[in-house]
Amino acid sequence: MCEMITEPEHKIPVLMKADVVVVGGGPAGIAASVGAARTGAKTILVEQYGCLGGLISISSMEPPSWWREERTTMPGGVVEDLDQKMIAMGAVQKSFFKPAVSIAYHTEMFKYIVDEYIQENGVTPILHCMGVMPLMDGNKIIGIVTESKSGRQAILAKRVVDCTGDADIAYRAGVSCVMAEEPTGELGIGELLGATLVYGVTDIDVDAVEAEADSDPSQRHPVMHKKMYHGIQKAREAGEIMPKYTNKSFIYNYKTKNELTALNHCWYPADGTDVLSLTKAEIESRKSIVEIIPILRKYEKGFENAKLRNFAMSIGIRETRRIVGEYRMQFKDVFDEKRFEDSVGVYPVCMDGAEGVLPAFTEAYFQVPYRITVPVEVENLLVAGRCCSSMRRATTITRQVDFAMVTGQAAGTASALSIRQDVLPRNVDIKALQKELRGQRVRID
Ligand SMILES: Cc1cc2nc3c(=O)[nH]c(=O)nc-3n(C[C@H](O)[C@H](O)[C@H](O)COP(=O)(O)OP(=O)(O)OC[C@H]3O[C@@H](n4cnc5c(N)ncnc54)[C@H](O)[C@@H]3O)c2cc1C
Repeated sequence: MCEMITEPEHKIPVLMKADVVVVGGGPAGIAASVGAARTGAKTILVEQYGCLGGLISISSMEPPSWWREERTTMPGGVVEDLDQKMIAMGAVQKSFFKPAVSIAYHTEMFKYIVDEYIQENGVTPILHCMGVMPLMDGNKIIGIVTESKSGRQAILAKRVVDCTGDADIAYRAGVSCVMAEEPTGELGIGELLGATLVYGVTDIDVDAVEAEADSDPSQRHPVMHKKMYHGIQKAREAGEIMPKYTNKSFIYNYKTKNELTALNHCWYPADGTDVLSLTKAEIESRKSIVEIIPILRKYEKGFENAKLRNFAMSIGIRETRRIVGEYRMQFKDVFDEKRFEDSVGVYPVCMDGAEGVLPAFTEAYFQVPYRITVPVEVENLLVAGRCCSSMRRATTITRQVDFAMVTGQAAGTASALSIRQDVLPRNVDIKALQKELRGQRVRID
């Protein structure tokens, strides 16, 4: 138990009032705010960094649905809007995998496109602003306390959607949360999926890298995932001492004339809810990257002159808290292609996480139940994205970007609709919610 002090009580100014405030501007938050605004709510989107996009923007997470195949059933809605906008701006590239129809995003352009998108939809963004505490009236949330360069302020709202990835607001509001609470894949209780600091390299002979990747189908295979595998193997065989958290294969996605912009080699065991663990993770990951580049120069074709181009803005966290909601998504639901009465979207049968990787080879899909966004203990609060309610094994699916958008769009739309219907979000009329979402081109069944 650490030493505690009492924070003095003091008055803080109200920065703004809204119908719906969405906390966290990642894939879930973007979709939630657009869903709420399209349903007629005055909507504010609060983000701690200087750009929207979540892990796509801040951690250079380039290929949202890398698992997409020709026949994959896609969810529509905000997922499709953003894909189309990125394609129209020429800000995508064909994925590394063969054969594949999926795309990798230019993550810097994504920041700009999302700025435009949320403003077109009438959402008010507030950047550089952290949601730190819920404001409560009994078991009802009535807004949030924010912390920013303007100091501590309040935003009052009829509904709050927590899209922080870590359930920051829900957890502090007293919602039951879990984290690494049961085994999944090779991870035991308490062992989190590794975090990655993505980085870019310059002075690369991209043609040589591509030719090398083509030389072995397992490198471009969407299940074997052995991208840039030969160099690492050769380095290990030669007895090179690899940085401690080096993955067995490196992944890159986006490339320009002489650059690879998103290498993903370092899996660090960070706890994204612990500031000291995050600090260590950033520092150790940078060290590991600086140490690996000379090894890549020696053993990876096309890397002979490689230099560091950039580190992503922040280490990317794959797993932290999840809420315990009215329903917890089960791993089995995915493979049973489960149908739910309260469906707010569809998602293809595919995996990418501790349970393994599986592209969406067929049209098979399951429905996403609204209840996974509804916390049990607190009213007027919904939770979407990576921290929605799911069993740990199912996070292999529910942690994905497009899944975050499906839950986000549903939670935002439901928040606004519940105001119009004058009911608690947990009691929103599901048929009306489905109709509203269909109107936003979300596929429900
Ligand atoms: C290295 C890496 C590679 C990945 N690769 C893939 C992939 O190929 N395909 C895929 O589908 N998924 C991938 N993922 C997973 C995926 O990126 C995330 O699970 C997904 O982005 C979750 O979306 P989200 O909106 O729930 O959370 P996030 O993307 O984490 O967004 C949360 C947002 O909330 C903000 N925020 C957090 N707390 C606060 C607060 N208190 N106040 C204000 N703002 C706050 C954050 O700054 C962030 O912008 C990857 C993840 C990592 C780390």
